Amino acid sequence: MWNFSSGPSMLPYDVIHQMSFDILDWNSTGVSVFDISHRSKYFEIIYNEAESDLRELLGLSSDYCILFMQGGGQGANAIIPMNIIGRNGINMADFIVSGYWSSKSYIEACKYGDASIVASSNYAMKIDYQDCNPYTWFPKIESIKTRACSSYLQFCSNETINGVEFVDWNGLVNSIDGNAVLVADVSSNFLTRELDINCTGVVFSCAQKNAGISGVTIFIVRKDLIGMSLNICPSVFDYKNVVNSESRYNTPPVFAIYVSGLVFKWLKSNGGIKRMESNNLEKSRMFYDFIDSTSFYTNTIHSSVRSRVNIPFFLKNDFLTDIFVEKAESSGIINIKGHRSMGGLRASMYNAMPIDGINALINYMRDFERYYG
Ligand SMILES: *Cc1c(COP(=O)(O)O)cnc(C)c1O
Repeated sequence: MWNFSSGPSMLPYDVIHQMSFDILDWNSTGVSVFDISHRSKYFEIIYNEAESDLRELLGLSSDYCILFMQGGGQGANAIIPMNIIGRNGINMADFIVSGYWSSKSYIEACKYGDASIVASSNYAMKIDYQDCNPYTWFPKIESIKTRACSSYLQFCSNETINGVEFVDWNGLVNSIDGNAVLVADVSSNFLTRELDINCTGVVFSCAQKNAGISGVTIFIVRKDLIGMSLNICPSVFDYKNVVNSESRYNTPPVFAIYVSGLVFKWLKSNGGIKRMESNNLEKSRMFYDFIDSTSFYTNTIHSSVRSRVNIPFFLKNDFLTDIFVEKAESSGIINIKGHRSMGGLRASMYNAMPIDGINALINYMRDFERYYG
């Protein structure tokens, strides 16, 4: 089965294979990895290797800490304001809204201070436009005006549902007036291509897309941003406590961190992020080339910001969508349905999806068009 789910999604086969041994006996210790305490020397090894492998993969500067936390991508939308929204003395943060997830980030932050949308690419907000995907571009950098006292400017580097990916992070940093730091939700394109993390204040990623299984949320935080949380911040979510305890202030998701560590090792032995980037470029190019070659399928995202890993698309005749999904399954293609907020279809092709999977999908789509077109 080719699993095109947006998350939880495919894990590399090698990772699952290794897990199947470690569940019975981790590292010839006679202990299952499920039985490992977060206070044990075994977890010390798992944690230190995961941390250092990730640091190496990202080429991360020593100015940053890596935190393994919980709460998921949406938890991060609250954890970030509780930790840094007050850094300039007044609780203020700016947001770029380019799709479903950045919109959710903004709404959550409103609970903690003065949050403002400083740029949006929502088509439906501007004109009465009822297309299925209201976000098809990323706001022009020149149009983004941050506020002088703002603590941070948050955006989503890859809108998983809308299929908009933005990577000119340095351009964004240069557009900031005042001393806001850049905050990025990288949940769906983390580790899929080179990203300029060293120009940001905070990035976060939930794990269930490219970094393992659900249960752990990875934060990469510039060290000078640690230790300025709001009083209301729960102790377990305070960066200072998490850093000082090496992500063990309370019981961490031991198994999820272990799986992330296996994924990092898999990445290292498969050419690292550079190699993932070229694979993902190739896979997405094949898919977009196919979609653009026929009017039977459409994707309306501006070509400069088309996501390489989450590709929403529609059938010209929407009444065929359910039939498309149903027949796909019997051709070995699963989880191809679009997000409930948008309908249509979506192919998520993260690091673990091989080129053969893309070929299978395109062949299926070609046959489907031949029959119903
Ligand atoms: C999946 C996803 C989230 C939500 O993550 P949860 O762990 O379900 O809260 C947030 N942002 C982006 C960009 C995502 O892809």
